[in-house]
Amino acid sequence: MNPPSGSATVPTRERVAEFEVLGVTAFTTTRALGDFSLSEPATLEANTARWNAMQRALMPGQTGLVSARQVHGVAIAEHGDPWSGWHRIEGVDAHIVFAPAIAAAVTIADCVPVFVAHPSGVVAMVHAGWRGTAAHLIEQVIRRLAASGLAAEDLHLHLGPAVCGRCYEVGPDVYEQLTGSRTFRHRSVDLRGRIAEQAQGAGVGHLSASESCTRCDNDRFFSHRAGDAARQIAVIASRQDD
Ligand SMILES: [Zn+2]
Repeated sequence: MNPPSGSATVPTRERVAEFEVLGVTAFTTTRALGDFSLSEPATLEANTARWNAMQRALMPGQTGLVSARQVHGVAIAEHGDPWSGWHRIEGVDAHIVFAPAIAAAVTIADCVPVFVAHPSGVVAMVHAGWRGTAAHLIEQVIRRLAASGLAAEDLHLHLGPAVCGRCYEVGPDVYEQLTGSRTFRHRSVDLRGRIAEQAQGAGVGHLSASESCTRCDNDRFFSHRAGDAARQIAVIASRQDD
């Protein structure tokens, strides 16, 4: 999946470089790696093959992969026991992974992929659109981790490629749910900025964000608002010790 060494090719994945020191591999795929959407029957077979190839590429560190049919809800799945193969579960937008052998992935194309890593190797992968952001989903994930003894100040959180504030305009109702402020016209909102504020308010110690906008950088990423039906994936995996 990597370009040949020494090549000047644009990387096919946007990596979360600052997680490497934690022993955590985290990245978002780009157009170059193709469509990972599983919602269209016509592309299901080819896209499933892409998921399988991606999981094989994560080996041998990871034996299991989890993803979900996402519903813009606030359910959080916790994965504690290792397994082999690809589990696709129903109706979940946030995964917390306590077993290092398991990688977690979310599909995105404008919504925010939120990567969370703790030095102990526990990781979380969250899909947050405006509904998840308005529902403070990331704060709920942070609270779950704190309940397991993982303090917010020790967490590293990265906001991956997503629609930027200039490209994301919402109606008055959504704007009020996201900001608490009233308006009578369409306004733009920076979803990553809102999530960053929530994470800071919850005491997260290490925060970073991608500079990529899925819509501005539509040559590189799929964007729902730019008319793409295809999806990229964001993946997090805690590398196993030898
Ligand atoms: Zn943009």
